[in-house]
Amino acid sequence: MSQSSQPANPTGKGSPVRDVRMRGFQDRTDVPDVLELLKNSLRPLPSVEVDLHEAAGRVLASDLIAPFAVPPFDRAAMDGYALRGQESFGAGPYNPLEFEVIGMSLPARPFADEIQAGQAVRIMTGAPMPIGTDAVIPVEAAEEYSDETAKMVRITEAVPPGRHVGKRGEDIEPNTIVVHSGRLLRPQDVGVLASLGINPVPVIGKPTVAVLITGDELLPCGSRPERYRIVDTNSVMLEGLVQRDGGVCRIFAIIPDRREAVREALQVATSDVVLISGGSSVGQEDHVPKVLAELGQLKVHGVALRPASPTGVGFLAGRPVFLLPGNPVSCLCAYDLFAGPAIRRLGGKSMQMPYRSACLRLARKIASAVGRVDYVRAIIRDRQVEPLATTGASILSSTTRADGFVLVPHDSEGFAAGETVCIYLYD
Ligand code: AMP
Ligand code: MG
Repeated sequence: MSQSSQPANPTGKGSPVRDVRMRGFQDRTDVPDVLELLKNSLRPLPSVEVDLHEAAGRVLASDLIAPFAVPPFDRAAMDGYALRGQESFGAGPYNPLEFEVIGMSLPARPFADEIQAGQAVRIMTGAPMPIGTDAVIPVEAAEEYSDETAKMVRITEAVPPGRHVGKRGEDIEPNTIVVHSGRLLRPQDVGVLASLGINPVPVIGKPTVAVLITGDELLPCGSRPERYRIVDTNSVMLEGLVQRDGGVCRIFAIIPDRREAVREALQVATSDVVLISGGSSVGQEDHVPKVLAELGQLKVHGVALRPASPTGVGFLAGRPVFLLPGNPVSCLCAYDLFAGPAIRRLGGKSMQMPYRSACLRLARKIASAVGRVDYVRAIIRDRQVEPLATTGASILSSTTRADGFVLVPHDSEGFAAGETVCIYLYD
């Protein structure tokens, strides 16, 4: 069943506080509707200024316009001799032409005078072209010698004006947009910004993400399991996922399954996004949905998604809160489908899956149902996608064995063997 007829309204007041514990979900929200809700209610964070050294991998917050030309002057593109190209016409191995060498131009140490007809200047790559010159004879086509009165160069190649010269502005024209807003800055982009003297750089802020873990049975990461207690796997997993998506993660101490403890934890976790793992379902200890509905808004509780149907999405003081099921595979799935896109959107990135994908034939059929999204762990064997037999939401090692996962879309009943499917590759 779907709640798609209910318009998403994250800012609307008060969600109905219905206690679904020990009753089960009455209806489940469709995955596309949850994504639509997130897309409509979240905007990139305000920009911050970062030093150029920190800018690679950040999202540019505004168009950057070149304040001047790069390079700012005409310069030699080869080592050789600068001269007037036209005067070299006719030069060749059997017809060498001679010029007087009247000086030298080195990088940052230009030749100060203007050259006249019949003259040349020894020049190195990157050095300013002397006034009056417009071409460079490469050193390979020139031979310098001294006669009694002067230094001379004999050239055996003709160069038209402009040859082997890096023209002012050939890299970047002044007043043009060099990098557009929204660009995930690549190392070479940062190099271009440096060439323009731009520092600091305006980038979208990194979302801060509070990770709250609930469960009386859980021991902190780094412990060994004891009797009926297991080790929390979700915090470290979520930490890695948040980092991947450009968020800054803050993990809190494990919260006991008590209503007041959950309430208090949600109240103190002020960050751009809150992820709360466990206690999101319909069991008697699942306090989180009700507490969120009381403190803020619970917009979604129960999603037509397998695994991870006990996922919730809401808002607290205008900031998104994700109720992630405690079962580790469901937690991963709910994160990747909803929390990850939200964090990326706040950070100015695309909401698309960050995984690479491959489209390959399916070795065995995948059954699903119209109206539900299935997250199916799979391996690639002989260039075919093979769904894993282990489907339990608690079997986290299945995601370690798997090469990736296939998403069966909302409107599909599944895929037949032999069909081409896209697999998202875990990496
Ligand atoms: P819950 O969503 O709290 O009902 O938990 C569902 C299942 O996931 C239970 O078997 C829990 O013990 C397990 N679980 C919950 N949280 C975690 C966690 N952080 N790490 C590992 N397993 C968990
Ligand atoms: Mg629990």
